Amino acid sequence: MGEDPRTFFPEPWEMTTGGAVPSGAERRALAICGRCPVLAWCLERDLNDSSTPSKILGVRAGLRQGDRRALYLRVFGRRPKNGAAE
Ligand code: SF4
Repeated sequence: MGEDPRTFFPEPWEMTTGGAVPSGAERRALAICGRCPVLAWCLERDLNDSSTPSKILGVRAGLRQGDRRALYLRVFGRRPKNGAAE
C-alpha cells in the first residue's frame, strides 16, 4: 500500500497495550490497518507464523504488539510452537 514499513514498528517508549490509549505512532499504524483489505489474513498469518509471543512485533492487523501477544497466549497458550525456545 506504499506505506513506510517503519510506521508499523513504534519505538519501545511509544508502545502501549490493554486499556492504555494508543500512542500517536501506534494510532498512525492502526489507521492504516483500518483501511486494509487483508486485515483478517494478516492477523492469521502473524499469529501462525510467530513461534512465540516474543516474535510478535509492532502493529499488525489493527492490533498493537502487546494486544497481539495477549491474543496469542489466549489462542496457543504459553508453549512455544515448533519447539522454538522463548
Ligand atoms: S492489516 Fe497487516 S497488511 Fe494490512 S496494513 Fe495492517 S499490518 Fe499491513
